[in-house]
Amino acid sequence: MSINLEQINELHWLMEMLHNIDVGLVVLDRQYNVQIWNGFMENHSGLLPKDVKDKDLFSLFSEIPELWFKRKAQSVFLLKNKAFTIWEQRPYLFKFLNYRPITGSADYMYQNTTFIPLTSATGEVTHLCLIIYDVTDNAVHKQNLEQANVELAVLSQTDGLTKLFNRTHWENCLEAEFKRWTRSKNPSCLVMLDIDHFKNINDSYGHVIGDEVIRHIGGLIQHHARETDISGRYGGEEFTVLLSDTTVEQGNVYAERLRKEVEESIVKYNDIDVKYTISIGIAEIDPSIKTYEGWIECADAALYRSKNNGRNRISQHPKLVVK
Ligand code: GH3
Ligand code: MG
Ligand code: MG
Repeated sequence: MSINLEQINELHWLMEMLHNIDVGLVVLDRQYNVQIWNGFMENHSGLLPKDVKDKDLFSLFSEIPELWFKRKAQSVFLLKNKAFTIWEQRPYLFKFLNYRPITGSADYMYQNTTFIPLTSATGEVTHLCLIIYDVTDNAVHKQNLEQANVELAVLSQTDGLTKLFNRTHWENCLEAEFKRWTRSKNPSCLVMLDIDHFKNINDSYGHVIGDEVIRHIGGLIQHHARETDISGRYGGEEFTVLLSDTTVEQGNVYAERLRKEVEESIVKYNDIDVKYTISIGIAEIDPSIKTYEGWIECADAALYRSKNNGRNRISQHPKLVVK
């Protein structure tokens, strides 16, 4: 007698625990009518057990895709195996509002759900139990982390001063373009430019204004870039632009436009006006160039010629034949 009472007590406790546990518990019969509905489900749906008892799950919760759910449930009934769905596949089964203060950025509660077959005394699966876990904290943290990683990846490719690509990333792009060229043989041009007598600008006006000039040329390069152009800050005041599907003649037109605009620009900082010029080297890829590093050397050699010939000018590799 006392054992029976103990057992009844244990059952009561178990029921109480299941009612108060911080996960959702739902039992459905084979017609998808709700049989059990614990406190978690009650609190988040606002529906009492008596409101849902013997009612069809899909009429109660129109957000649950009936076909998908039934296909999943059928396999649990038939194979007597558990099934799962995670928030990455389907953010939630029940559309409950997220009311958590810390993870308030999510509108709805993210959920993982386990489907468990419930067997009768005859060994038949007559019911299905759903366990719904609130995984909003995990989901929001994971999404924030992914977003931070995306931002970090962009930052790791970007030069802080000009927002152009940094040297490492730009060189990776150049290498990819070089490989592309070995297959397609479409013309492609590499433009290198360097600010003339930049040391004088730093010495005369200071580094802050020097930085302003670097930002200015970065802005002009950005402004003149087409969608397919790949622009980078190669070094202190050296810049590179990769023009795909562009011949040396076309590259020259681009470079002359940039050179002229710089020559005509005034960089204003407080009441100081700074004028500057750039020298440019252009190299169109050709079969004599065997590596992407060799391609940079060709453009650099052209740039060196521009410096030697008086600066504020453009030189080409191969030499441009003026018709
Ligand atoms: P040239 O016409 O031959 O190019 O003369 P230059 O004076 O520009 O010579 P060079 O290219 O050797 O000088 C580059 C100078 O740029 C040296 C360095 O102090 C300065 N520099 C490099 N990076 C930065 C930067 O981020 N900010 C500033 N303000 N100056 C920089
Ligand atoms: Mg310079
Ligand atoms: Mg330099």
